[in-house]
Amino acid sequence: MKDYNIETKCVQGGYTPGNGEPRQIPIIQSTTFKYATSEEMGKLFDLEASGYFYTRLQNPTNDMVAAKICELEGGSAAMLTSSGQAANFYAIFNIANCGDHVVASSTIYGGTYNLFHVTMRKMGIDFTFVDPDCTEEELCAAFKPNTKAVFGETIANPALTVLDIEKFAKAAHSHGVPLIVDNTFATPVNCRPFEWGCDIVTHSTTKYMDGHGAGVGGCIVDSGKFDWMTHADKFPGLTTPDDSYHGVTYAEKFGLGGAFITKCIAQLMRDFGSIQSPQNAFILNLGLESLHVRMPRHCENGLAVARYLKNHPKISFVTYPGLEGDKYYSLAKKYMPSGTCGVVSFGFVGGRTAAETFMKHLKLAAIETHVADARTCCLHPASATHRQMNDSELVAAGITPDLVRMSCGLENSADLIADIEQALAKI
Ligand SMILES: *Cc1c(COP(=O)(O)O)cnc(C)c1O
Repeated sequence: MKDYNIETKCVQGGYTPGNGEPRQIPIIQSTTFKYATSEEMGKLFDLEASGYFYTRLQNPTNDMVAAKICELEGGSAAMLTSSGQAANFYAIFNIANCGDHVVASSTIYGGTYNLFHVTMRKMGIDFTFVDPDCTEEELCAAFKPNTKAVFGETIANPALTVLDIEKFAKAAHSHGVPLIVDNTFATPVNCRPFEWGCDIVTHSTTKYMDGHGAGVGGCIVDSGKFDWMTHADKFPGLTTPDDSYHGVTYAEKFGLGGAFITKCIAQLMRDFGSIQSPQNAFILNLGLESLHVRMPRHCENGLAVARYLKNHPKISFVTYPGLEGDKYYSLAKKYMPSGTCGVVSFGFVGGRTAAETFMKHLKLAAIETHVADARTCCLHPASATHRQMNDSELVAAGITPDLVRMSCGLENSADLIADIEQALAKI
């Protein structure tokens, strides 16, 4: 599939059936797999042979779908997880342990912020949050001798800041660590972070990849470009023997392309078990087949709504990186020339109360803790996803109390605008 365009990879990537085999990927609804001898199974446990023995570690359906996402991103290896949260947790914890430090953009998704700032801190991992628009100098000042990774989101949810991937990759690499980018909002249809120097990509496949609000899931993709051995002292988990896995040294045995994902499966999936169900992986694959057809419509609707709101007297601001004049328009044009996403954020002249009135009167757009669905939905982050944050944390995350996030679906844009118009009239 390597030489095909992204549209073809969406439809046919990851699985090529042989003669008489199912055209659609089979759902291997089995927890376990049978072997004729203990010796044969032993080889799998020793990572001497590849094959399936227990679905908590690997399942053929999941692997086919992971292989498709790997092709879409242009990576070397990939794995599915049960959620986007699990993907980001694994991606960091695979290389940062107790006593280590990570540099992260401050405008990341609230769930990821909480995972890093509260839960992973309890595990002894320290985080420094930086303004994604900081200078190279300010970014470099955030690094410490124990820094193991840099993390950001291509388009942040819900702040809609666009990450200057090249700036972040340069800083990460000059400090000998990889850049991890959560590419959920842009999807590989609109942005492929590996082409700009990013080393590891994560996804909440719950969003556009599934695209129908049907299945929670996540994915981690490795570019296979980061050379762990060059920085062996920083990443002992990859460059020294793993006693919990028969003394295997991942970077030696699985090389640049396979070390990160193999370790992540062998250690973290084995111990934490955040596996995606094969049934959900099948549903995810149905979404992936049309991802390249759906993304342009999400972007078209997002832009139409953003342009309408921009000129409305009751609206105080509109944030949409695809909108002419947006703070991130030029970064978006550079990294996502064919479109950004369907999510638009905006605020009200009448403040928080106006936002609440507006939400109450929407008819087509439903109030949901969700984005990137075929159906348009709407959220007031200050009273939902981000309610754990105090006012200064909210501002640092790029959110004001009157901010409403609207995820434009695949409906007719004139219908969406008419719905917004009648709800605004109620304020
Ligand atoms: C939703 C989301 C997540 C979390 O994913 P889940 O699948 O809900 O666990 C992580 N990152 C981003 C950018 C998201 O939008």
